Amino acid sequence: MNQAVIAIHGGAGTITRDAMDPAREREYTEALEQVLLAGQRVLASGGTAVDAVTEAVRLLEECPLFNAGKGAVLTHAGTYELDAAIMDGATLGAGGVACVTRLRNPVLAARAVMDHSEHVLFAGEGAEAFAQAHGLELVSRDYYYTQARYEQWERARAVQGMALLDHDAATLAARALAGKADPIDPDSKFGTVGAVACDSFGNLAAATSTGGVTNKQAGRVGDTPLIGAGCYADDVAAISATGTGEMFIRAVAAHDVSAQMRYAGLSLEESARRVVMEKLPAIGGRGGLIAVDRAGNVTLPFNTEGMYRGFARASGPVSVSIYG
Ligand code: ASP
Repeated sequence: MNQAVIAIHGGAGTITRDAMDPAREREYTEALEQVLLAGQRVLASGGTAVDAVTEAVRLLEECPLFNAGKGAVLTHAGTYELDAAIMDGATLGAGGVACVTRLRNPVLAARAVMDHSEHVLFAGEGAEAFAQAHGLELVSRDYYYTQARYEQWERARAVQGMALLDHDAATLAARALAGKADPIDPDSKFGTVGAVACDSFGNLAAATSTGGVTNKQAGRVGDTPLIGAGCYADDVAAISATGTGEMFIRAVAAHDVSAQMRYAGLSLEESARRVVMEKLPAIGGRGGLIAVDRAGNVTLPFNTEGMYRGFARASGPVSVSIYG
């Protein structure tokens, strides 16, 4: 029982103290704490790792502060296209949805794919039809809207034509408001959410959900719904990633954390460090990941200025951090 633990993230990127006022910092901290408490309750009552990560990511999707579900970022075309995935380390069962535009909770659709389909990944309208057939809620485009994301998108479009990680765009918008406008850093901003857990049976699970990167091209799919890239769990480790999706895909980043442990005998911490601090930067990858192993070890590395993150054991206090 004592190895049971849940860890969550709300994205990595250019998250700096100078772009954050105390009230906003409190909002993020409290939101992360509430999600961890909910995940902790699932684990403490003997729930599975799969149930704990599903509930944590569902709550993060419901929270407009994060770039998943409500509060998702916009594509270049001004639309919302969401991606999500989940994996059960005990069975290697997995499910994902990509480019969905009408699902309230993409992670619940990913879970339905894992639980009720012979397939692993559904995209677009087929994914929505599958989710609807399994009783999941569809919403109109307006549901995802937040003023903050709209302003980020307008800024990203006005200053340059490239896609930005969510928290990089937020920082740029805040600096601009404070009269400290920087030239836009093309490499900065991610706001994806994710959760990993080890339950009291020693089973592992991971889930990840995102609106993608601000101002992305319509139809672009990142690492989040791809098993092995932005989400992975087996009987060694569970991993959820956030960052420049293209590089996480090319590095098969989430799977690599487990593979280095299995094949090279690395610890969870050292394996995750090599992926985030060496392998991803070598190809221009920015971001971070959260990972747990079956002994209940937790690591939360990132190579950006900050990452919204935290963890909680089945009993005991929750721990939340933002900056490096
Ligand atoms: N990894 C996500 C993507 O590329 C973005 C993020 O982490 O915020 O879609």
